Amino acid sequence: MDRHNHHLALQRALELGRAEDPGALPELTQLLTMPSSEIRRLAASAIGKLAGFGADPTSAVQALAPIALRDPHPQTQQYALKALKSYGAAAQPHLHDLDDLAANERAKDYVRRSAHSTAEAIREAVRMAEPSAVLRCARCHQSASAEEAARSQQAFQRVFCDRCFDETFLERRNFDTKVELNKTIIAKAGTLVQSDGERLIADWLTAHNIAYRYDERYRILSGHAIRPDFYLPEFDLYVEYWGMDTADYKIGMLKKQQLYQQEGKRVISLYPHDKPRLGVAMPAKLAFFGAHLPSSGVGDQ
Ligand SMILES: [Zn+2]
Repeated sequence: MDRHNHHLALQRALELGRAEDPGALPELTQLLTMPSSEIRRLAASAIGKLAGFGADPTSAVQALAPIALRDPHPQTQQYALKALKSYGAAAQPHLHDLDDLAANERAKDYVRRSAHSTAEAIREAVRMAEPSAVLRCARCHQSASAEEAARSQQAFQRVFCDRCFDETFLERRNFDTKVELNKTIIAKAGTLVQSDGERLIADWLTAHNIAYRYDERYRILSGHAIRPDFYLPEFDLYVEYWGMDTADYKIGMLKKQQLYQQEGKRVISLYPHDKPRLGVAMPAKLAFFGAHLPSSGVGDQ
């Protein structure tokens, strides 16, 4: 490059550096390829300034990174490192190389310090960008809204989207009852129940003309999932059939009973040993809550 052309390119780099125009990025990128380190230095510096004026961060970082990491002229490298810093999180893909440069004993001290400070600034920018980053469902990894996250955090201490929230609920319930959903049993009144014990209860209630609602949707009580098996509206009573006998299940059961109590809910609990003597157990437990059977005339079973 002759002196005249060098002078023109230098003037142009300075001019573009003052222009505050993001449209200058391609021309400045071109100037970064000049053999003159002085021109490269001015162009890198000008690209850094454009960060505040809406220059495309990806293109800018792509142009600056090779100069920042590998320019044969250390001062030019230093300017490019400083310019790279202005693009913050967009420079994240180069963090590893910047760390290598900061640790490179053959590089100039001021280049190493500059690489270190640029890497730190990029890391900070990445951290700052995180809270506004989308919440991800822990199950399907799709984005979840703040409302979905709050709801699932309360119930499961995890972030789930609404769809996975519902599916997780079903899985937990099936785990609780050790009954798969497709193994439903039809009670006499046509209600689909999930165990033999529940079917006996449904049939007994039907035989005694006691209205019931079965399996209302889950509700959350104190952050725990509660599914009442049966609700008897005329007595304002819940009937829970505690079908399993494992330790895990018992812990869940005690927790649930405790929650019912806290909420002031009236609950009748029935267990597998009540199954053969439902005709005795049910009226006794109902009477405990002052609930007496309508005189249906159907014999106890
Ligand atoms: Zn999901």
